Amino acid sequence: MKTIPYGRHSIDSNDINAVLEILNSDFLTQGPAVKIFENNIEQYCNVRSAIVVSNATNALYLSCLALGVGAGDYVWTTAITFVASANCALYCGAAIDFVDIDSRSFNISVDSLRNKLIDAKQKNKLPKVLVVVHFTGEPCLMAEIWNLSQEFGFKIIEDASHAIGAEYYGKKVGSSEMSDLTVFSFHPVKIITTAEGGAITTNSSELAEKLRLLRSHGITNDRSKMLIRPNHEVWNYQQISLGFNFRMNDVQAALGTSQLSKIEEFLRKRNAIADVYDARLEPLPLKLQCRNKDFKSSHHLYVVRFDYSRTEKKQKDIYSNLKKKGIEVNLHYIPVYRQPYFESLGFKVGYCPQAELYFHEAITLPIFPALTFDNQMHIISALEEALK
Ligand SMILES: *Cc1c(COP(=O)(O)O)cnc(C)c1O
Repeated sequence: MKTIPYGRHSIDSNDINAVLEILNSDFLTQGPAVKIFENNIEQYCNVRSAIVVSNATNALYLSCLALGVGAGDYVWTTAITFVASANCALYCGAAIDFVDIDSRSFNISVDSLRNKLIDAKQKNKLPKVLVVVHFTGEPCLMAEIWNLSQEFGFKIIEDASHAIGAEYYGKKVGSSEMSDLTVFSFHPVKIITTAEGGAITTNSSELAEKLRLLRSHGITNDRSKMLIRPNHEVWNYQQISLGFNFRMNDVQAALGTSQLSKIEEFLRKRNAIADVYDARLEPLPLKLQCRNKDFKSSHHLYVVRFDYSRTEKKQKDIYSNLKKKGIEVNLHYIPVYRQPYFESLGFKVGYCPQAELYFHEAITLPIFPALTFDNQMHIISALEEALK
């Protein structure tokens, strides 16, 4: 049997035709496809503005810049996430710090957050921005986090790289109702793909305008934004801030629109796979993720934790066992502060106790729309075998 990856894109002939249409058109980049994709995201998420960019890492960076993050500021995120959720702060010259996770949802712990905020207030080191991550596609407790942001005066970026299509009390993640900005990733392992790509959603027209400028060199061709220059000079555009080229191109955007039109089908399949795992893995010596019944996960990842009170098997042995059978299990994630680069910034082993426990117990099982029932049964029986 071919190896089974932990995640994989689903591309069909409609996607291919959408891309071909752009390749045969007048604009490969800076054409109409980008705006169309943005409008589709706005409608899907029920949000005022969507700004698509080259990838979610740059989306997070621009989000921090738009919120004014800079030297002397603190940005906080959860300990269990991809490194990009933390690096955005460092790009801006700010300091990063980590909040421990909830042992059951694997998302940021609201209790740890509150305690850390109380402590930081006394030390005059409150964060300017909190990056919350809807880990695996399970929404964070946004109302609680929003209330803390009002009490302690910080901004919120939702890193929803896992979570396009997820719902919080019936509202789509990305509606940005309880945050300043939400970031999506369209990397091929995520829910929908543009090969590389990302998006930022916001209800603030001021932030949207800043983000559009930052995405494209800080250049505007809007007369009302330009400085007055001598009348005889030709000024068809002006650079009015320091921006980047973090644009998404039209080939990617057309693929994105095509992918987004199939998102309900992708989510339905992911949900069905998660249901099968939930039912079949229940009797094994595992701790399954507790998902909130009032939310809807997008099931980007299916993570289980080994319950060492019920099995003697070692995490590493179970890993290699499954890998030998062609199952590309993974670990999402090593606590970010344990990465050598972050250790070089001064973070120490044991900094977030729940994240460390998680690190030694977790494994990511394959989940993606095209995963067949037979393959899933193969994965489940291999895991049963490995745990015996
Ligand atoms: C994938 C991912 C990113 C980065 O996405 P890119 O589009 O690859 O830059 C950021 N944060 C999280 C949580 C992710 O899973």
